[in-house]
Amino acid sequence: MKAIAVNPGKPGVFFVERDEPRLQSPDDIKVKILDVGICGTDREEANGGRSLTAPDQKDLVIGHEMFGVVQETGKDVTQVRAGDYIAFTVRRGCGHCDACTMGRPDMCTSGGYTERGIWGRDGYQTEFVVDKEDYCVPIPPEVRDIGVLAEPLSVAEKAIDESVLVQKSRLPYVRDASGVLAGRNILIAGIGPIGLLAGFILRLRGAKVYGLDVVDEDSPRARVLSDIGGTYVDGKKVKVDDIQKTYGSMDMIFEATGVTSLEFNLLDALGINGLYVLTGIPGGERPLQVQGPDIIRRLVLNNQVMIGSVNAGKTHYRMAVADLMKFRQAYGSAIDRVITQRIPCDKVQDAFMHNTAEEIKTVIQWG
Ligand SMILES: [Zn+2]
Ligand SMILES: [Zn+2]
Repeated sequence: MKAIAVNPGKPGVFFVERDEPRLQSPDDIKVKILDVGICGTDREEANGGRSLTAPDQKDLVIGHEMFGVVQETGKDVTQVRAGDYIAFTVRRGCGHCDACTMGRPDMCTSGGYTERGIWGRDGYQTEFVVDKEDYCVPIPPEVRDIGVLAEPLSVAEKAIDESVLVQKSRLPYVRDASGVLAGRNILIAGIGPIGLLAGFILRLRGAKVYGLDVVDEDSPRARVLSDIGGTYVDGKKVKVDDIQKTYGSMDMIFEATGVTSLEFNLLDALGINGLYVLTGIPGGERPLQVQGPDIIRRLVLNNQVMIGSVNAGKTHYRMAVADLMKFRQAYGSAIDRVITQRIPCDKVQDAFMHNTAEEIKTVIQWG
């Protein structure tokens, strides 16, 4: 069968042949791939960035944001059957640390995990995959067209879930989880797919959402943000220093740019007891002069928290799937418009090599 691969460390994507996988144990599920999303991680891999082949392969099949239809199940599989839509999660645990043995490889403490399509394990840009029921997340047919968003949405769900848990546990005036977000001022830095999907979650939970980016006001991502009731902050016009003056102090900042200089500058906009959650990974930037003492002074005197978040547990995938249904109800087609391009798998080169400000999420179609 056909698959799209990279040579780790070398730029370029190409087609390879792989054997069609078969069920090997009673809890295996065989899935026909329908859609696979592309994100910054894929583009980094395609440009020779961080990735690792499986031990027995000389190239790596990429793709980790998958959606497919069950083809065949082992005899012990109970959650799904042939014809059901599912997503498989990305990370596979190390098998021995506390987090992994509890089914939370996203919090693996040994670093010995693998990730499908990224690190040590073939991914989903191919025709069929087989994996364990344990890694499968059922997706209702009503959200078939946007099921491929489950993975990036799960990443935003985890970052927000962790932020809510932290704030709920330490703020004396917050009674329950909804009090952390409802009516609060939240700034999202970078409204690419992750930032924008975070915006959907936060709006649904009643937050006042401000999305900072440097795209035009009438670009698709700024329009989707305003369609869900968020406020677009044009970074070309509004200086970062003026955000607090213009919109007030932020109770939370959700960072999804990975631009280090911006990450530290934005701390100016964070209010007392505020939480700053970082999901963006800085690229190959030049070293940055950071006013370390000033940042620490501010964090301490204002009771602020900074947390980093990556990947997602199965609970977050389930939250993502439930929210996809709610986004449709609350915001109509806005969630569908997060997918700006669908490209047949044989035109894949274009998708990996070019992206524009008009693009939000590109999806490769296998089905
Ligand atoms: Zn991704
Ligand atoms: Zn582990």
